[in-house]
Amino acid sequence: MTPIWNKPPHQTDVVIVGGGLVGVCLAYQLARREVNCCLLERHTLASGASGRNDGQIILETADYYTRMQRVYGIKEALNILRFKRLGQTGTHRMMAELTENHHLAYHQQGSLTLAYNEAEAALIETASAAMIKDGFDMTLLDRDQIEAKIHTRRFAMGKYDPYDASVNPAEMTHAIAAQARRGGAAVFENCRVTGVASGRVDYEGGSVDCEVVILATNAYTAGLLPEFESLVFPIRGQVMAGEPSDIKIAPYACITNFGYDYWHWTPEGRLILGGRRFIDEHGETGTDHRINPKVQDALCSLRDEMYPQYSHLKVEQQWSGIMGFSKDGKPLIGMIGGDPTMWCAVGFTGYGLGMCWSAGEAVAQVLNDEQSELTEILPMFAPNRFSG
Ligand SMILES: Cc1cc2nc3c(=O)[nH]c(=O)nc-3n(C[C@H](O)[C@H](O)[C@H](O)COP(=O)(O)OP(=O)(O)OC[C@H]3O[C@@H](n4cnc5c(N)ncnc54)[C@H](O)[C@@H]3O)c2cc1C
Repeated sequence: MTPIWNKPPHQTDVVIVGGGLVGVCLAYQLARREVNCCLLERHTLASGASGRNDGQIILETADYYTRMQRVYGIKEALNILRFKRLGQTGTHRMMAELTENHHLAYHQQGSLTLAYNEAEAALIETASAAMIKDGFDMTLLDRDQIEAKIHTRRFAMGKYDPYDASVNPAEMTHAIAAQARRGGAAVFENCRVTGVASGRVDYEGGSVDCEVVILATNAYTAGLLPEFESLVFPIRGQVMAGEPSDIKIAPYACITNFGYDYWHWTPEGRLILGGRRFIDEHGETGTDHRINPKVQDALCSLRDEMYPQYSHLKVEQQWSGIMGFSKDGKPLIGMIGGDPTMWCAVGFTGYGLGMCWSAGEAVAQVLNDEQSELTEILPMFAPNRFSG
């Protein structure tokens, strides 16, 4: 039997399922509003994508702004960027609060989006012009300027966004959870939820009665609600970490090849490099954390292509993580099936770090009857957009 000290309460106001960045942001933002809540995580905090990603908190993604305008429409594309920018601003504020008492590896150094080929260069140029027109600050860079920043001549052009950041995402998840706990949220690890329904959450060993359930289970949501099988798909990504070195490259969040490849250098001189999923796109699906040697080899080749002068550095670690790709590339945040007691914030499609703060804040605001710019944008992410 689990001792009573380690057991979730029998009753609370809100139960959050999932202890990734989205779940802990929800707990943090509800706790700040003095809402009674408890978070249940089946393994340990950050054991999912939140502890396995590249740590880039960026505004624009593989989905270049002009492409977003085409696919979602002009107004909706702008709202996606506003949601993310509010998320970045909120994250900067939250990190300042969290770093008051101890150091966290969070660097607002900016990002570089680099043209892998001429087609991508053209896209960067037009998308950047459209973003600048809509009030987002960025600068185009040439090969020499890129080399001065990140020691590679592989890229003829790119863009620099000064607002973006890189972070140790596992550390960030734990720090937010600790702050949520200090605010009164109850956080339980090794607590697998086995069933959710309006007003009740079952976990291995017990159940919690509650007014609202929020699923923050990203790629794993269909494990609890099978209807999500056709809405959020588990897609695997591979990452490698180089050994520490005396190379001093500032921790810019770097991205190229239409979002497929991404990296940053840490202050310890490690290269953290992920991507190359297109090498085995069909193989890189499902929920197991498998290392894919084909993709990992391709990552090493990419490192050598970009940094031949550093190819002697050993690969110290390889890992994989599971992303939750949504059907239309936008997350699903809101009521499930129009039921005000059942919510989700899932499907962050490879880029949740710039959105987790906004997702948590927006849901907490709605549940607390508050209105804001975020709550105005929120309906765009309603899960029921796919019904009918
Ligand atoms: C390789 C890789 C690189 C990435 N790089 C970036 C990047 O640089 N920038 C960026 O913005 N995004 C990146 N992402 C995406 C980013 O990591 C995710 O969007 C984000 O972490 C999603 O957070 P989450 O809390 O929704 O999901 P997760 O962190 O996956 O959390 C979901 C949690 O739910 C738990 N859970 C599931 N089922 C149950 C259950 N039945 N009971 C209890 N708990 C349960 C899981 O154990 C898990 O901890 C990357 C992802 C990967 C895999």
